[in-house]
Amino acid sequence: MTAKASVNFLEEALADTFGFDTFKGNQEAIIQSLFDGKDTFVIMPTGGGKSLCYQLPGIMMEGCALVISPLIALMKNQVDSIRSYGESDEIAHFLNSSLSKTQMRQVKEDITSGKTKLLFVAPETLTKEENIEFFREAKISFVAIDEAHCISEWGHDFRPEYRRIREMLDLIGHQIPIIALTATATPKVQSDIVKNLRMGEDQNTFVSSFNRDNLYYEVRPKGKKEYTFRQIIKLVKEMPDQSGIIYVQSRKAAEEIAQALVVNGVKAAPYHAGLDPKTRSRTQDQFLMEDVDVICATIAFGMGIDKPDVRFVMHYDIPKSIENYYQETGRAGRDGLGGRCIAFYAYKDILKLEKFLRDKPLMEREMGAQLMQEVMAYSETTACRRRFLLHYFGEEYDEANCNKMCDNCRYPRERVEVSQEMVQALESVKTLDENYPLKTLIEFVLGNETKQMKDYGFTELPGFGTGKDREEVFWSSVFRQALLNNLVRKDIESYGTIKITPEGEAFLKKPTSFEIPIDHDFEKELAQDMQG
Ligand code: ADP
Repeated sequence: MTAKASVNFLEEALADTFGFDTFKGNQEAIIQSLFDGKDTFVIMPTGGGKSLCYQLPGIMMEGCALVISPLIALMKNQVDSIRSYGESDEIAHFLNSSLSKTQMRQVKEDITSGKTKLLFVAPETLTKEENIEFFREAKISFVAIDEAHCISEWGHDFRPEYRRIREMLDLIGHQIPIIALTATATPKVQSDIVKNLRMGEDQNTFVSSFNRDNLYYEVRPKGKKEYTFRQIIKLVKEMPDQSGIIYVQSRKAAEEIAQALVVNGVKAAPYHAGLDPKTRSRTQDQFLMEDVDVICATIAFGMGIDKPDVRFVMHYDIPKSIENYYQETGRAGRDGLGGRCIAFYAYKDILKLEKFLRDKPLMEREMGAQLMQEVMAYSETTACRRRFLLHYFGEEYDEANCNKMCDNCRYPRERVEVSQEMVQALESVKTLDENYPLKTLIEFVLGNETKQMKDYGFTELPGFGTGKDREEVFWSSVFRQALLNNLVRKDIESYGTIKITPEGEAFLKKPTSFEIPIDHDFEKELAQDMQG
């Protein structure tokens, strides 16, 4: 369709097709850009209304829109939802390995006859010779690339086959506009997407604010398993009958937390890749139908789940990147009402994740370490969490606008001056020749007479035990703050040994005031709490 779509024209179509009165955010400008035949890049947070940006023009334009989507479950949901709006089932189809030969033939017939306006395909379907042949002949209105961050190794869900999309589109050979959409785009991911798709020079980019002002962000220290489980149960019971997702990194944790909740009378279920597809899809349906309130899931859950009233998202295990975190917490409060996002954090978990990285190729290892450093900084910051998150996505944000919607704005943490102790900590790094990890340094300052300390003769060195009047949590906090403030760095290449940075040297020469937040000894507090 070459005619310029008038405002009324688009709004009318919106009302006719979806029954909505107005466009949300940039939707209208995005759709107009497609009508203008421009390559279009859409960066919009989860719940912003991305799907409509290709669904509506897909239905309106001549020909069939190709929508590339990473997951079969995701496609199915979308097709079902469009069919519910449309007049016929043929209006939307998906084409992937789950279809029989006959079904595939039928889909292609519907496209050729012009009945189908939106076709969802997986990138691997696109690469099939016979499909390329078919698309070359078919009338394609435009190509939408959903979850476009899958293109980038810096994204939270890299899929190698996504990198071949451009190549396939070139084979198909039309001069068709593309629209790429993602909810997560750090500047790095953004430039990866544009470069890889070779989007035209006069492409339009639409960036929506990533702020979700209805979400409350909170980080809690993660103690021993039973204490943390208890906290989770308590929290969940404070929100009876509300839908929520608890993300974990292992199948075992998914099972155990679900079990603990069920025992406590909560309708909960696990969801992970170890369950068969039938069970998983049943659990997903039960969650949508509210027969299950709480899902304990590994990361596999949530993509394409359109449940607008998810009231909380917890992370029992800290995610591998801020992108992951933001994507997952973004599933709360899509209806614009409140959503509580609670992450449980233990420095130990960062170390665990770092260990996993050790056997990975260099590039991946460095990237992983950097992403995790950000997660650690987020977890340990005493400043506004919302500001931190938005800043991560390249957005300036005045924390005064947070409206006490994060724990740090609501309950500012007490801080203590540790300039002198920081000097002690940095000196210990030098005394041990910048050759040891955090754990050894803490033991050294505390003066723990472990076998290693004695065998290596560390007990004889100046500085051994100078910090013995403080507790381990204190020193752990001092060292972590040194890391976060770039006074020292962790060398992943040499198994996490701590090195002094030029900033650290400068600090040693001329120590300045240095305040850190007081770390609670949560194990102790919780133990008291349990007795009380
Ligand atoms: P995203 O893919 O960006 O996460 P969705 O496309 O799933 O977001 O949309 C989120 C919700 O907003 C859906 O429930 C959708 O029906 C609704 N929505 C989208 N556009 C509009 C609109 N213009 N007016 C009202 N609701 C809308």
